[in-house]
Amino acid sequence: MKILVVNCGSSSLKYQLFDMDNESVLAKGLVERIGIDGSKMRHVKTGAEKDYRVETPIKDHKVAMKLVLDALLDKDHGVVKSLDEIAAAGHRIVSGGDYFKESVLVNDEVMNALVKCIPLAPLHNPGHIMGIEAAQHAMPKMPNVVVFDTAFHQTMPDYAYMYGVPYEFYETHRVRRYGAHGTSHHFVSLRAAEFLGKKPEDLKMITCHLGNGSSITAVNGGKCVDTSMGLTPLAGVLMGTRTGDMDPAVVPFVQNITKYSADEMNDFMNKKSGLLGISGVSSDLRDVEEAASKGNERAKLAISMLEYGIKKYIGAYTAVMGGLDVLVFTAGIGENSAETREGVCEGLEFMGIKIDPAKNNIRGKEAIVSTDDSKVTVVVIPTNEELMIARETKRVAF
Ligand code: ADP
Repeated sequence: MKILVVNCGSSSLKYQLFDMDNESVLAKGLVERIGIDGSKMRHVKTGAEKDYRVETPIKDHKVAMKLVLDALLDKDHGVVKSLDEIAAAGHRIVSGGDYFKESVLVNDEVMNALVKCIPLAPLHNPGHIMGIEAAQHAMPKMPNVVVFDTAFHQTMPDYAYMYGVPYEFYETHRVRRYGAHGTSHHFVSLRAAEFLGKKPEDLKMITCHLGNGSSITAVNGGKCVDTSMGLTPLAGVLMGTRTGDMDPAVVPFVQNITKYSADEMNDFMNKKSGLLGISGVSSDLRDVEEAASKGNERAKLAISMLEYGIKKYIGAYTAVMGGLDVLVFTAGIGENSAETREGVCEGLEFMGIKIDPAKNNIRGKEAIVSTDDSKVTVVVIPTNEELMIARETKRVAF
């Protein structure tokens, strides 16, 4: 069975076609600059020597989808003979608000609810909706499934997801914690349990998704009980360009002095803060690590802030769950930066977390990186959100 995974932004369409018989990727690609000058597509057939590239005006997502399907059908760089071979499409959705607690099959009611979720992800959800409509238009008989970044976090108890604001803010504007990266946290929590030969139901886990955007999740018995991102992906630990947690009064304080608008402040907090804002070097941890190794004090501070923030969440979530069995690191930083893993775990021996520096000296592969006598097992699990979306699509559609 073949499943198409689609991740649409407002001007982009990323895709992967999976063969679910062995969960392999047959082809993948990216359409960029949809609706703007310089539109192009890059398509890669697994195992092919060369990418297939197209540069042509692409006025909307329907045209983009047609290009993708043509590429998948092409006799040279294609991987299917007929579109009927594609059993279903799974669409990544950034925010399902509290309308969606799990992945669902698309119907009119679902489309209406997706529109209601737009205020929660104004930069993402409109693109997702256009992607679904494009798939429906191109393959009217094929089922579409929506898989939400927020769904895994819908098991949080109310006292974890509510903010201490007037209750009307919640009732009227749905202001609360939703979290993000749920598909990744779900995937790595399941995979970590499988890798360790345990059942998710028997484990207290903390999953650290550390990339350009980062979030930490407490997973108790396979269910999310708390997560560090909030109403938006700005909350939590220090990120590439995002602030992470801070006193919300920073915003009116700076605005009163500088007269920056709400949009300008939002821009500062999302795009000019974090590792970049503190180090002044880069949003990319590799650059910051390199600068720190040459003695750059602000780069060293940025790294210390990152590690300290993650450590605080590990302490908090261990308290929330009344213990910890497995600590998982994933995504660009979690999978690749041995220094970050070591820095985060340093000083947590009292909680039963003991990193083995030799085992920790790995990148980008599944591994146990704690000592044999560490009470908490620390693991690296590469994330695979697309595969999780494909699995969810298969589960829901068939
Ligand atoms: P995104 O959130 O955009 O999906 P990724 O999960 O790809 O991001 O993570 C990007 C981050 O991972 C960057 O900060 C990058 O510096 C970091 N990273 C990737 N490889 C390494 C490495 N070898 N050492 C340290 N950091 C790394």
